[in-house]
Amino acid sequence: MVKNHHKDDYLSGLIDRLTSVFHRPLTLHPDLPSEYYRRFVFVNYIYFSSFVAHVLFWFIFEVIHAEDMALFSLVTAAVYLFCILLNFKGFYTTGIVFFAIEINLFILMCVFTFGDAGFHYFFFPIFSLLFLISIDQPIFRIVWAIVECVLFGVLSYYLPEISKKNEFDPYIIDFLRVLNTYLSFFFLGFAGYYYSQYALKAENLLRKIATTDSLTGLSNRRDFINKIKNEMARFDRNNKPFTVVMGDIDHFKKCNDTFGHDFGDFVIQRTAQLMVSSLRQQDFVGRWGGEEFLVVLPETTLEKGDKVAEKIRTVIASSPFSFRGKKYSVTMSFGVSVYDHAMTMDDVINKADECLYIAKGAGRNRVVALKE
Ligand code: GH3
Ligand code: MG
Ligand code: MG
Repeated sequence: MVKNHHKDDYLSGLIDRLTSVFHRPLTLHPDLPSEYYRRFVFVNYIYFSSFVAHVLFWFIFEVIHAEDMALFSLVTAAVYLFCILLNFKGFYTTGIVFFAIEINLFILMCVFTFGDAGFHYFFFPIFSLLFLISIDQPIFRIVWAIVECVLFGVLSYYLPEISKKNEFDPYIIDFLRVLNTYLSFFFLGFAGYYYSQYALKAENLLRKIATTDSLTGLSNRRDFINKIKNEMARFDRNNKPFTVVMGDIDHFKKCNDTFGHDFGDFVIQRTAQLMVSSLRQQDFVGRWGGEEFLVVLPETTLEKGDKVAEKIRTVIASSPFSFRGKKYSVTMSFGVSVYDHAMTMDDVINKADECLYIAKGAGRNRVVALKE
């Protein structure tokens, strides 16, 4: 399982490197909105794979002595290279117009030359592309869709008659039909795959943004609430208690007031790192608010939770850091509560908060853990 995962990572890394040229809009602005970037990359793939397919056609047509079509394939391949150039130069729509005209001309010529050799199957991927490619002018998409439908209808109607006139060996026609079927599958599959991967990437990114706090990279409040809910569900199943620790940096306002907000941000980030590094893998840390952090310790009793909080407190208090050549250290106060019988989420968090309040009142830089 793990091994395959690494293999996938390696493969996608390799593909990323090999295809990086398609990802680089040369003359376009670096701060392009992502939709422009996506469509730029996608049509580049389409143009390039069409280019490769037409070089292949050129070769096949040469072999079967369809010289005119061989020449036409080369011209078509050159047009696709020109489309890539247009795309890189920022003429996105012009590139698509050229592509659309050229591919339809090519299919028409092939059908008239070879008859029922599967070239009309390319209408399927083209039709799906029509809706996958971003097009700014809706009228363009409508006109294109109508043209494809009419062409496909007319060609299908006259196909038996056209086929009668073709003078190629039936084996060649069969071979071309099989090849074109699979090439059409490839284009359809590729377009679907590209967009499903893109959607997955976008989804993961959005999920990450929605669940993490941007300053510290920790879970944000929303994510943290879900984590507590998971632990509550786990308690329902196996009755193992979990502990919640609420920590708050002492006299943080003074930090901000004395050294500025950026320094305060830095202290928050550093505290977050220290907390993460002093916890176990299975524990969760979240940023609850300004300089307040919440920790969930799964399968942990109040006594053990108290010890863990004490460990974090010691680490923070004994880790001075340098700022403008001087050494500084901060302290934190903690409140600990346990979830060892059915209660609401608010109950367990409020309990930790109450304990924290007591710790602050008792002079700060300490841990208070109370059961009821
Ligand atoms: P106590 O020991 O009682 O916790 O005192 P305190 O000064 O830490 O507590 P208080 O809640 O009064 O102050 C918290 C301050 O944290 C107020 C707010 O301006 C600051 N703060 C909240 N969020 C951020 C942030 O993201 N960055 C920075 N730099 N400061 C923040
Ligand atoms: Mg504070
Ligand atoms: Mg506070």
